[in-house]
Amino acid sequence: MPAGRYKSRSKRRIAKKLPGGRTKIVYKEALPGRARCGICGKPLHGVPRYNTHKKTPKSMHRPERPYGGNLCPECMRKIMREKALSMIEG
Ligand SMILES: [Zn+2]
Repeated sequence: MPAGRYKSRSKRRIAKKLPGGRTKIVYKEALPGRARCGICGKPLHGVPRYNTHKKTPKSMHRPERPYGGNLCPECMRKIMREKALSMIEG
């Protein structure tokens, strides 16, 4: 009988083969959902699902451009155009 904390379905179950030939169920945290665009909701590329730790540089967590990791490139371009137009029109 697994301990109470392992009964939660928010944990992933992984069947792991042990050196003796037995298989054991290993419990791991479930992966978070894919990062999505804040406007159109499309899944974003270049943003890892796993929890990125402090040891990896920030540039490995999201694309290095304005709104990288928040907006998809199409929505980012749209916003940039709107911003430029509003600056011209005043
Ligand atoms: Zn978008």
